[in-house]
Amino acid sequence: MNYLADSNRYEKMVYRRCGRSGLKLPAVSLGLWHNFGGINNLETCKSMVRKAFDLGITHFDLANNYGPPPGSAEENFGRIMQSDMHCYRDELIISTKAGYDMWPGPYGEWGSRKYLIASIDQSLKRMGLQYVDIFYSHRPDPKTPLEETMSALDHIVRSGKALYAGISNYNAEQTKKAVEILKSIGTPCLIHQPSYSMLNRWIEPQLLDVLENEGVGCIVFSPLAQGLLTDRYLKGIPSDSRAASSSIFLKPEDITEDKIRKLNLLNEIAAKRGQKLSQMAVSWVLRKEAVTSAIVGASSPSQIEDTVLAVNNLKFSEEELKLIDDIFSS
Ligand code: NDP
Repeated sequence: MNYLADSNRYEKMVYRRCGRSGLKLPAVSLGLWHNFGGINNLETCKSMVRKAFDLGITHFDLANNYGPPPGSAEENFGRIMQSDMHCYRDELIISTKAGYDMWPGPYGEWGSRKYLIASIDQSLKRMGLQYVDIFYSHRPDPKTPLEETMSALDHIVRSGKALYAGISNYNAEQTKKAVEILKSIGTPCLIHQPSYSMLNRWIEPQLLDVLENEGVGCIVFSPLAQGLLTDRYLKGIPSDSRAASSSIFLKPEDITEDKIRKLNLLNEIAAKRGQKLSQMAVSWVLRKEAVTSAIVGASSPSQIEDTVLAVNNLKFSEEELKLIDDIFSS
């Protein structure tokens, strides 16, 4: 049966302006880094994309290397676009990136013009799209002049392959320079995508200050710390979780007894706020106006349903914030 999106999809989601641009993003976006690759069940992937859109999540975040194998998340997303979502293209913000290792030889990673332009062409082909909404330099390249990487982003936007340019994983100083270069060549930097969560606060305060001053949006990844900041690990490591899988990004040894103790304390604060830990974790990153959106991952539609409820309570009292901070200093 053909997919028909929920007619109430725009009623509950909160949309925030991305920096000083004309674009609004949903406060919660869906990322396809894990659970959307060639090794995953396409029907489950499809049901997650459908559920997300039904809940007002208009933004889907990809990268050339998401899988496994690399490229397969874009291929699967392309299949879902074709079967379910093509008639909603103008309601969607689709992003992709290039920066990490993608193909052999000297032109398959980092930030050269050669790599970025070849990569966007490959991504568009895999997704069956004529353009993406946002194209990112996925990481700063210490060896390529920043001017070259930024002028490649400018070229990609001007050639119509992307509507906006973004950067990811750049520190405050690199961001300031990148934003200046992009401004000087006439393609403003729309957005920065750094990691951020209660467990990982490296963007405070310098990077966030730069973004706020420059009017650049901030979309944070892994706000649930890859699942740690949910009720999943409160009693240990569940067998169907990312930490129990072969993922090299979240390993069982990362989940120490001390961490589990702290997660349980956070869970108590969440309960007092009338939230689940996952919801409080997303509300916490969105408590700052400078954060436009939180990109969450999911392994089932019900997780997405659960997480988006965060938008119902984005305010924290000073006392709650202190209680949370105290847990990490204990
Ligand atoms: P999260 O921190 O949101 O972690 C997602 C994981 O948390 C899920 O896979 C699931 O774990 C668990 N989870 C999610 N919702 C719930 C819930 N309601 N209840 C219980 N558990 C839940 O984000 P990710 O680390 O997945 O990253 C999100 C996105 O950010 C990526 O898909 C990507 O788009 C982007 N990203 C960007 C990077 C960059 O360099 N720019 C790097 C990394 C990510 P489980 O699978 O175990 O069920």
